[in-house]
Amino acid sequence: MTVIEESKEFVERLITGENLPLFTSCCPGWVKFAENKFPDMVDNISTCKSPQQMFGAVIKEYYKDKDKKEGKETIMISVMPCTAKKAEAAREELQHNGVRDVDVVITTQELALLIREAGIIFDQLEEESFDMPFGLASGSGIIFGATGGVTEAVVTRLLRDKPDHSAKDILFSNVRGMDNLKEAVFNVDGKEVKIAIVHGLKSADELIKQIKAGERHYDFIEVMACPGGCIAGGGQPVPMNKEMRKERAKGLYKLDRTSHIKSSEKNPLVMSLFEDILKDNHELLHVHKKAEAEM
Ligand code: SF4
Repeated sequence: MTVIEESKEFVERLITGENLPLFTSCCPGWVKFAENKFPDMVDNISTCKSPQQMFGAVIKEYYKDKDKKEGKETIMISVMPCTAKKAEAAREELQHNGVRDVDVVITTQELALLIREAGIIFDQLEEESFDMPFGLASGSGIIFGATGGVTEAVVTRLLRDKPDHSAKDILFSNVRGMDNLKEAVFNVDGKEVKIAIVHGLKSADELIKQIKAGERHYDFIEVMACPGGCIAGGGQPVPMNKEMRKERAKGLYKLDRTSHIKSSEKNPLVMSLFEDILKDNHELLHVHKKAEAEM
């Protein structure tokens, strides 16, 4: 959902030329940093809710009628890579009709502790599938966890009608890997588009200062607060070093390679949601009050 909405928003901004560069909004650590340090750039951040918040809002909307009929309440619990996601879920503007999109957030470390405390031995559990209809994920969604993953998914979507090589040439050579700053240029409908990817707030800070000084120019910028992206989030299992980050990223790319559904628009669940509850329901996936919000 994030890929589809963010690509759409990016194309709209390219056409109007407003609020460029477009910054990604998936990482609440980055969003809060921007609000504090660069409030004049908040309008440049995508209005898309983060994947956590989109998923929560959609789940609650999806089960709304059933809950009402059966006198039940759907509670959304996220398992996340960092504590910034807990603060994000508590933001006032991330509620819909007074109901929080996400009720509870636990980190992956906390989940591991709970599993141990409950005496569950994962290796001995029988394999089973995810619950449907929300258990279908695309490779595009999986790679969000590594720096460059959001950009790769968005560019793949923008270039979906172009020959295969045009997307692959850019993506695999430029957006993957652990360099502090990665750059790529590609063409959308005759317009040259320049993208940058940074991870770690020090790198983001330096890049924005250079943009403000007129030393650099981009149309799309992905920022992840944690070096390496969510694979190295503060709530993830430790210890963490450069090699481990690379290994975790490799793991995600392997899952992407072997996933049956590669891109967001090939995910039948996502597309059916856009034809159903997401039709004319813009506020479920977007937020417009970042600057005023408190975390
Ligand atoms: S990059 Fe870090 S702070 Fe940002 S969402 Fe991922 S784990 Fe959380």
